[in-house]
Amino acid sequence: MLRRGLCLVLAAPSGAGKTSLSRALLDEDAALSLSISATTRAPRPGEREGQHYYFKSPEAFAAMVEAGDFLEHATVFGSAYGTPRAQVERALAEARDVLFDIDWQGFRQLRAALPRDVVGVFIRTPTLDDLRARLVARGDDAAAIARRMEEAETELAHQGEFDFIIENRDFETALADLRAILRASRLARPRLVVEGQIGLNKR
Ligand code: GDP
Ligand code: ADP
Ligand code: 5GP
Repeated sequence: MLRRGLCLVLAAPSGAGKTSLSRALLDEDAALSLSISATTRAPRPGEREGQHYYFKSPEAFAAMVEAGDFLEHATVFGSAYGTPRAQVERALAEARDVLFDIDWQGFRQLRAALPRDVVGVFIRTPTLDDLRARLVARGDDAAAIARRMEEAETELAHQGEFDFIIENRDFETALADLRAILRASRLARPRLVVEGQIGLNKR
């Protein structure tokens, strides 16, 4: 069958396990690739241009906005982030699926830009205390933990906009849930319809 690719958006309060889950899914699924965003924030140690982000000056970022190069863009923690349009449109047309690690504002805009291509998954911990424990275990410092716990309330307030909600209690169970969502979403009718027809191969 012919099909269009899909956009799998993962959003979560910082510390809920989004990075660990997306890395595990990307490692096991060759048909899935990560959307690389552009950002104005400085690279962190170990981050590489074109692999984690395209690092831009505020001026270069603004020029890309002006040129319509972004599918969506938003200010997160004081820096600008955006999803370059070209790489995503190419992937969808070639039936390749794309994973997005973007915030709830990005999810909203992406869904508006590509209404039939986006599947939104919200990842959370069972309780806020569990979230705090993960941030402590990860080694975040006290100030960062306080800030992220505050931001978690905002992110959690938007969980109702997503198609699926995964409670990341046991990691392997959460990964199996994510795998199931991707598998089912690949078979959803909107993905199989190309130019108004169910895209059955002639062979
Ligand atoms: P590369 O630098 O050799 O990988 O060549 P590319 O053509 O892939 O990318 C050239 C530059 O374009 C990179 O610095 C990216 O940051 C930037 N870039 C990547 N995707 C986009 C996009 O969708 N729009 C715009 N304007 N720039 C992009
Ligand atoms: P995010 O990308 O959402 O900020 P991470 O993937 O960095 O989150 O996960 C936060 C911390 O919690 C990491 O130290 C990670 O190893 C740990 N973690 C992730 N999932 C689980 C889980 N199910 N149980 C316990 N710890 C977890
Ligand atoms: P970090 O700087 O820690 O990598 O990411 C900070 C936040 O920005 C995360 O919540 C991440 O999901 C969000 N983010 C990263 N890229 C994009 C993007 O292209 N668009 C939007 N809207 N948010 C993004």
